[in-house]
Amino acid sequence: MKVKQIIGNKNLAEVFVAKTNSNKLIEFAYSMHCDNKKIVLTLSTLYGCPVACKFCDAGGYFEGNISEQDIFKQISTVLNHKFGDNKTNLDEFKIQFARMGEPTFNADVLKVLTNFPKIYNTKNFVPSISTIAPEGCETFLENLLEIKNKFYKNTMQMQFSIHSTNEEKRNWLMPVKKWNFEKIANYGNRFFTKGGKKITLNFAVAQDSVINVDELKKYFDTNKFLIKITPINPTNSANKNKINSGIKTSDDNCSLIAQLKKAGYEVILSMGELEENEIGSNCGQYLTNHTKK
Ligand code: SF4
Repeated sequence: MKVKQIIGNKNLAEVFVAKTNSNKLIEFAYSMHCDNKKIVLTLSTLYGCPVACKFCDAGGYFEGNISEQDIFKQISTVLNHKFGDNKTNLDEFKIQFARMGEPTFNADVLKVLTNFPKIYNTKNFVPSISTIAPEGCETFLENLLEIKNKFYKNTMQMQFSIHSTNEEKRNWLMPVKKWNFEKIANYGNRFFTKGGKKITLNFAVAQDSVINVDELKKYFDTNKFLIKITPINPTNSANKNKINSGIKTSDDNCSLIAQLKKAGYEVILSMGELEENEIGSNCGQYLTNHTKK
C-alpha cells in the first residue's frame, strides 16, 4: 500500500489517501480523544459504496471490496505513522469499520475481526460495526454475532444508521432496500448481552428530519438500545442534495433530546470537533476531493 497524502493535525486527526496493490485509491483516518488516551481508527471496507446515501461522499462510485490484507494494512499504516510501531498501548484502541463502504457487503471484515486477536493485543480493543442493515445482510450479521460472542462479548459496538422514523424519508436518504425496524430490533435484542454495550441507533439530524419517539419506543427497548445524535457533516453530497444539519452546536435540538430522554433512552450527542470537519476526517469526503484534483 502506498500512501499518497496525509492531511490533518497529528495531535487531533489525520486522513490518509493511499493506493492499494490492486492500484485503487482508498482513504482511512484516525482521531485522538480523551486527552490522547484513546485512538479511533476509521477504516474503509469497500472501494466506494453502492448505496449512495444522500449525505455521503463515499457513494459516488463502487469498484469492489477491500481485501482482508488491505484492511489490516490500513491499521498498520496508521499505527506505524502515529506510534512508530505496529501497536498501541493507549487506554482504548477503537476501530470503526465506517469510512468508505457498507461493511456488511464485505465478508473480509469478518476475517479481520477473527484474525485480529492473533496479531494485536485485544485488552483495550473496541471493534465497532456501523450498518444501514441492507437487505441480504443476514449471513454477515449472523456470523458477526458468533464472532462477537467468541472474541468481543462485552466490547463490540453495534450501530444501526436509522436517520429517520419516516419510511419514505429513510428510503430517500439511504436508497436501497433495508431491514425494517422490527427486524433491526429482533437482531439487536439477540446481540445485546448484559455487561456489554447497548446497541446504538444513529440519527444524523438534518433540519427537516422526522424522528418520532413513539415510533422508536414501539420497537426499541430502552434497556438495550441507545440513541446517538450526530450533525450532518458538510460533505460534497450533503451540499449537493441541500441537506443542512439540524444540529450545529451542542445546545441544538434540545427538545428532541429531552423527548428521547423522557422516553427513557440514553442519548449521546456526538458533535465531533470543528477542526475534524475542516480536516475532512468525519466522512468519506477526502478521496472525492483528491480524485477531483
Ligand atoms: S453512509 Fe455508509 S452505506 Fe451510505 S453511502 Fe456512505 S458508506 Fe455507503
